[in-house]
Amino acid sequence: MFDKTLAELAAGLRNGDFTSTELTQAWLERIKAEDSKYNSYITVTEEEALAQAKAADEAFAAGTAGPFTGLPIAHKDLFCTQGVRTSCASKMLDNFISPYDGTMVAKFKQAGAVMLGKTNMDEFAMGGSNESSYYGPARNPWDTDRVPGGSSGGSGAAVAAHLAPAATGSDTGGSIRQPAALCGITGLKPTYGRVSRYGMVAFASSLDQIGPMAHTAEDCAMMLNVMAGFDPMDSTSVDREVPDYTATLNEPLAGLKIGLPKEYFTDTLDPQVAEQVRNAVAEFEKMGATVKEVSLPRTELSIPAYYIIAPAEASSNLSRFDGVRYGYRCEDPKDLEDMYKRSRGEGFGDEVKRRIMVGTYALCAGYYDAYYNKAQQIRRLIQQDFAKVLEEVDVIMAPTTPHPAFKIGEKSNDPVSMYMEDIYTLSLNLAGLPGMSVPCGQVEGLPVGLQIIGDHFAEAKLLNVAHQYQQATDWHKQAPAGI
Ligand code: GLN
Repeated sequence: MFDKTLAELAAGLRNGDFTSTELTQAWLERIKAEDSKYNSYITVTEEEALAQAKAADEAFAAGTAGPFTGLPIAHKDLFCTQGVRTSCASKMLDNFISPYDGTMVAKFKQAGAVMLGKTNMDEFAMGGSNESSYYGPARNPWDTDRVPGGSSGGSGAAVAAHLAPAATGSDTGGSIRQPAALCGITGLKPTYGRVSRYGMVAFASSLDQIGPMAHTAEDCAMMLNVMAGFDPMDSTSVDREVPDYTATLNEPLAGLKIGLPKEYFTDTLDPQVAEQVRNAVAEFEKMGATVKEVSLPRTELSIPAYYIIAPAEASSNLSRFDGVRYGYRCEDPKDLEDMYKRSRGEGFGDEVKRRIMVGTYALCAGYYDAYYNKAQQIRRLIQQDFAKVLEEVDVIMAPTTPHPAFKIGEKSNDPVSMYMEDIYTLSLNLAGLPGMSVPCGQVEGLPVGLQIIGDHFAEAKLLNVAHQYQQATDWHKQAPAGI
């Protein structure tokens, strides 16, 4: 049962093949037995899960169950969950029990979902390998000496290791797509504003988005149906109709126009990864799609622009962690200033401090024009480049990452080489566009992701394209050895 998709589990629940309580118990036992190998969970919420499963079974008995009733999922540990620790994988919030549910979490509760627990991540979602977690790195189920990617690495590892059928993630510069690619699962970063971020601990507010991570595009569609929509509590959420994302999965792809950005296929890209991506594109040609080369000339500039804008916003967002209101406070402070300094100095890890320093520097009066303003100008140009290309093609296809999963420790002392791994994902966040990563091959036994990029609010199209690919191929069905 652990290799089943959400859609298959939902059918099993509806047919009475098993109850939500049976399902939930089985998954909780598996987590207990297996997660020490992967460290994919920070908190397992056994009691809540069993109570929610019981309520779901009652809903089935009463005939009030909906499409998501009784399905177990895990949430990344930066989404506020009432009465449950919400740590952001930081010592700063190790003791923080959220007094409320974030909107996305509340929507899953209302839909009758079961929360298995909270997944590991890079501290405050800053990273691309899950190594900056205060609770230690999550491990890639395909090779536990390797990273699962980040920052939603725990969600990626949990789904790939069959420790949750699906999970939520957040993507500020690639944190859903990159772990999805490195763990061999399917992930969707929706358009900026599609999913409310109320109750998500903010990293970089002009870039953050919440999205689903699961085995299939169909499961991501089921999850987006629950998550998407306007929320008066998030002023950046967009008031726009939410389609049924499962309704258009089977549209034929004949005539689909695909663009391949030439700047994504350079010597930055591992040639073996390139080959897998090109094979996937050839699959779409068989389905009647046409392919042409396009140009996104500022791709390289997305790294410096992002690594100014994201830290600038982070330095401002993280100023709320002052040791006074909530979170970590140092022992025996001498005076107020000592309390601020030591609470932040002891509560934040190295990568978070690095971002706060870079961001604060970039926002200093004397440097603002040279760095922050310049980065915003580049951001606008990147948006324009995408807009131009998306007038000519329906979707852009590209690799999600330049390499398959790297070894734990390989890049952790070299932040720039870690940041370079984000080259194919960052620009979408700068442009606010939706993107998916879909398993499309393997290199030396490690999964490779195909990135599918569309215009604003084209999630239904992306899911349709990904679903059709998954009808024709079985990369999404591959599991790591022994799982
Ligand atoms: N790897 C990127 C960073 O370190 C993106 C992280 C994210 O999307 N949360 O900032």
